[in-house]
Amino acid sequence: MTKRMFITGGSRGIGAAIVEAAAAAGWDVGFTYVSNESAAAEVAQRASAHGTKIRHWQLDVRNSANVDEVADAFLAEFESVDAVICNAGINRNGLAYSMNDEDWDAVIGTNLTGSFYVCRAFLPELVANRAGRILMMSSITAEGASGQAAYAASKAGLKGLAQTLAKEYGPKGITTNVLVPGYFPTDMTSGEAMAEGLKDFAISYCPLRRLGELDELAASVLFLCGDGAGFINGAVIDVTGGLGWAP
Ligand code: NDP
Repeated sequence: MTKRMFITGGSRGIGAAIVEAAAAAGWDVGFTYVSNESAAAEVAQRASAHGTKIRHWQLDVRNSANVDEVADAFLAEFESVDAVICNAGINRNGLAYSMNDEDWDAVIGTNLTGSFYVCRAFLPELVANRAGRILMMSSITAEGASGQAAYAASKAGLKGLAQTLAKEYGPKGITTNVLVPGYFPTDMTSGEAMAEGLKDFAISYCPLRRLGELDELAASVLFLCGDGAGFINGAVIDVTGGLGWAP
């Protein structure tokens, strides 16, 4: 039977790569975007070429009512869900002493609280099925990163959230794991969003001496969503090429 994936932030970057790889691997996929409708439509068009069902919805994960509506719409369209990927994320740089409330709240609200809302919305269906996969996108910054207090705190929080879900819902047959991507070329890590020096840092301190490729990350996600990963639960899995820290 065709498996069904729900993923937030599928319009660009890592999420878009996962949508396309999952479709190519035979998954039906529902994904979300927050503002970039045209990019989402292009991803949907490319993914649809593989012949599985692809749908996309506008969703701000900071809004719990919006999350519940989209989860209901997904379940109405796809009948159930096999994998939930909490991928949507943002970053706002700034030293902690000068970070304003708005930036702190936006990052924590999107990366951490939004992931909680998404998991909460799908857990009743996953529990009813007594099966399923949940994945969260953390970061090496979870160990601390200068100028990224909110981002680092949100990504560390995801580990606590995932490992709690692993304990609460493991007995119901649901696995929850955390992926730690290293440095992948996306809008988040390009241009003004990230100092060029950080890219050089990532390449020179990564033992593989290169950035990650999006299809490498997507392949790891698909493995963790597959039958072969059934005994991996509450794990924090680095897909970093060995890069283990941020400045
Ligand atoms: P991008 O900035 O390229 O894409 C972010 C995605 O999240 C977009 O689809 C965007 O939608 C969506 N999004 C942003 N805000 C919201 C919101 N409030 N509600 C719903 N969706 C939202 O990011 P990446 O692909 O680089 O990152 C994906 C995930 O991986 C993030 O969680 C990030 O923290 C994590 N990560 C990335 C790394 C990297 O090297 N790139 C390294 C470590 C972790 P829209 O297109 O509509 O704006």
